[in-house]
Amino acid sequence: AESLPLAKVRDRADKVAEVKDHPEIFSDFRAEIARRTRGFLAPEYNIRCIEAAVELPFEEGLDVERRLFTELMNGPQSAAQRYYFFAERAANKIPDIPKDTPLVDIQKCGVLGAGTMGGGIAMNFANVGIPVTIVERDETALERGLGVVRKNYERSASRGSIPPDAVEERMGLITGSTDKADFADCDMVIEAVFEDMELKKSIFGELDTICKPGAVLASNTSALDVNEIAASTSRPESVIGMHFFSPANVMKLLEVVRGDKSSDTVVATAMAIAKKINKVAALVGVCNGFVGNRMLFMRGAEAEKMLLEGATPAQIDSVLYDFGFPMGPFSMSDLAGLDIGWKEETSSGSTVREILCESGRRGQKNGRGYYTYDAETRAATPDPEVEALIKAFAVGKGVEQREVSDQEILERLLYPMINEGAKILDEGIAIRGSDIDVVWVNGYGWPVYRGGPMHWADSVGLAEIAAKINRYAQSLGGKHWEISPLLARLADEGGRLQTFSN
Ligand code: NAD
Repeated sequence: AESLPLAKVRDRADKVAEVKDHPEIFSDFRAEIARRTRGFLAPEYNIRCIEAAVELPFEEGLDVERRLFTELMNGPQSAAQRYYFFAERAANKIPDIPKDTPLVDIQKCGVLGAGTMGGGIAMNFANVGIPVTIVERDETALERGLGVVRKNYERSASRGSIPPDAVEERMGLITGSTDKADFADCDMVIEAVFEDMELKKSIFGELDTICKPGAVLASNTSALDVNEIAASTSRPESVIGMHFFSPANVMKLLEVVRGDKSSDTVVATAMAIAKKINKVAALVGVCNGFVGNRMLFMRGAEAEKMLLEGATPAQIDSVLYDFGFPMGPFSMSDLAGLDIGWKEETSSGSTVREILCESGRRGQKNGRGYYTYDAETRAATPDPEVEALIKAFAVGKGVEQREVSDQEILERLLYPMINEGAKILDEGIAIRGSDIDVVWVNGYGWPVYRGGPMHWADSVGLAEIAAKINRYAQSLGGKHWEISPLLARLADEGGRLQTFSN
């Protein structure tokens, strides 16, 4: 109204001048976000746009921005992430369970076992204000378990990710006990004791006599038959698998494992509580390892075979790291502990892991695993002793060592997983292809910018993958290379795995 000269923001250079000729602003920022954004194009392109805004005339800056934006929008990373956004939402929809299925109101949750998983599982509930009763077999184990939970909360508070008074508030919601009878007023009990079928069956038999009618009885088993566990109770309709991932207070994925007899209410309740405790759930069926671990077993088997053929742990790991995983299978084993499930008495020197354990290697925890770890920095270095052990083991098995290319490593790690994913779909273990992607992105570090294994397979081309699988089946043999009839059919028809649904 006053006809003042209107200054266009585009013509104002004062703020920009301050940062011009300071390339370290950009390089420092790149370094700061490098770990978090590794593999993603968009964060780097954003930085380039701002660099252009600083260094170039306004119109040219706009051109750079438009060009980079268009490239991203039309590129595979954007397509994968848009696809994934809808995949996660689709995973909540269970076609045969009506929307108005009544839910069990979970006002109190029980957790059995305060080990690696139990403590983390309890935290998920306390974090959203649901009281938890956690039961251990003795006071010592209970104290140790609750101590770990407290430390986790204290660490979060010291980092500022939860308010300081939240430590006591959340610990106050967790009640420890050594008596399962304290589960009597729980609406849901999640069992997280050792992975042992006989133990789990006897525990579920006991829970059956303690828990109130209608309570959800869940097992956190990684691979065991949920139907067999359910059969040890008089109410198999109340039993379900709730497979959390380690660390259970951090990892987003929850595989909800539907038993043959799990009721609609129990399935719907497990899916709903997953959302409430901020997990991303996928409903899967009963089979060895469910969706995630079953596919992982295939990758692990092939990784071990390639070690014998001459690839090194570091080479195999770096192929997966470069693909976008946070780490490869051998770094992961070292982190988890090589001796998980290993016993000296029964060790028979029949796998690389066993011979490493037998030679005193336990992984990161004792500084020696597939790699050797620096005591202070925990940096991993390949170890010639490990390579020699593997070589001697291969010679003993009559396996000839050779150079294995990175491309072969990638195909042999990922294609058996795709094949297994297709078998999982064919058997109805997963409802839809995209659910498998939800499992892998949230539970196993599959890079979201590659959409998940089913989306990625479609983008490589199913015909190409099927042809390679058939070729490997001939040269290598083994059940996991026998092609899935569904994969073969989709490859022939030009179909897609990501949109397949049962
Ligand atoms: P863990 O050994 O760390 O903890 C098991 C706990 O159960 C121990 O503290 C033990 O004292 C307690 N326990 C054993 N028998 C008991 C009983 N009768 N009553 C009460 N407490 C008892 O094991 P974990 O790694 O936490 O695994 C627990 C379950 O979770 C297993 O079924 C495992 O397969 C599954 N799981 C583990 C992971 C993982 O990465 N660790 C991931 C997903 C699922």
